[in-house]
Amino acid sequence: MKREKIDIMNMARPSVKKLKPYASAKDEFKDFDQQLIYLDANENPYDNGLNRYPDPHQSVLKERISELKGVAVEKILLGNGSDEILDMIFRVFFEPAKDNIIINTPTFGMFKVLCGINNVNYKEVSLTEEFELDVTKIVESIDENTKAIFVCSPNNPTGNSMKKEGVEALLSKGLLVVIDEAYIDFSEKKSWNQELDKYKNLIVTQTFSKAYGMAGIRLGVCYADSEIITLLKKVKMPYNISVLTQQTALKQLEDQRVTEQEVVEIVENRKKLVRELSGINLVKKVYPSDSNFLLIKVDDADLRYNELIGHDLVIRNRSKEPLCENCLRITIGTPSENKALIKSLTYLDTK
Ligand SMILES: *Cc1c(COP(=O)(O)O)cnc(C)c1O
Repeated sequence: MKREKIDIMNMARPSVKKLKPYASAKDEFKDFDQQLIYLDANENPYDNGLNRYPDPHQSVLKERISELKGVAVEKILLGNGSDEILDMIFRVFFEPAKDNIIINTPTFGMFKVLCGINNVNYKEVSLTEEFELDVTKIVESIDENTKAIFVCSPNNPTGNSMKKEGVEALLSKGLLVVIDEAYIDFSEKKSWNQELDKYKNLIVTQTFSKAYGMAGIRLGVCYADSEIITLLKKVKMPYNISVLTQQTALKQLEDQRVTEQEVVEIVENRKKLVRELSGINLVKKVYPSDSNFLLIKVDDADLRYNELIGHDLVIRNRSKEPLCENCLRITIGTPSENKALIKSLTYLDTK
């Protein structure tokens, strides 16, 4: 399907199309930089730094993100974590008990959970043995109620990025393509948010929870055509991003070099960990990673997982996931944490 044939408005649920977003006090009077007397929002008037509602449009923060990421403000939406953004996408576009989406397994568990919460059907298509998108099978599984294809790149739990050609092939089908880029900062690949002018049906989500070191503030970022963003704003809760979150994120973005340096270190530590893990006998395979974690195949995942807990090391057992038999997922820690992991595995190896 060509871009001009994509009618985003008609992809939205009829009930959402008709919806008028809630107009808060802050919407009706927007000039809140000015020193005026505000008696419009039933707030407590005594200033303690947090007695006022947050900016529902997060204008200052979005300007900063726009400048850093090279995406226009009207193509950005912020959420209480990317989980909230994904949920908004569900509520805008997928009619419960009717529409379906395609997910590519193994992948991020939240996609299925959101299907459950929103009563939306999903079709699972297995990634290939190399953890790439199986475009032929995905296209075969599209039916008249399929609304979207979810792609996680770099993918959790496999760690790899999906090849550009595969994603392009999916985008050309005209359905919504949602690309979860939670780990993009650890990858050498370009973000798909640079392709928004080309694809009207593209939605990219990113997060402050991983590279930016801000999992605690809950901030996710969505990039899409302004028509999609306008629809998502209709279901967005007015004050979904707190004053504390907006302030803390802005402060974190003041100096990008801190994050950049941490990312460089994490990637270096990942490469070191790959080398060290490869020398351990019980580790059968270390999968290539574009993220801040490694997926490894071991001799006996359940056994090794429990043994590591006995050594005060908590990792993720992913051995029940498709294509992930005996696989463990390990987050890259600090150098001393990684050292503790290698020490324990080396001990278990020779025991
Ligand atoms: C960690 C992670 C997220 C982050 O979600 P937030 O709600 O923004 O913390 C999103 N997608 C994937 C695939 C993840 O692994």
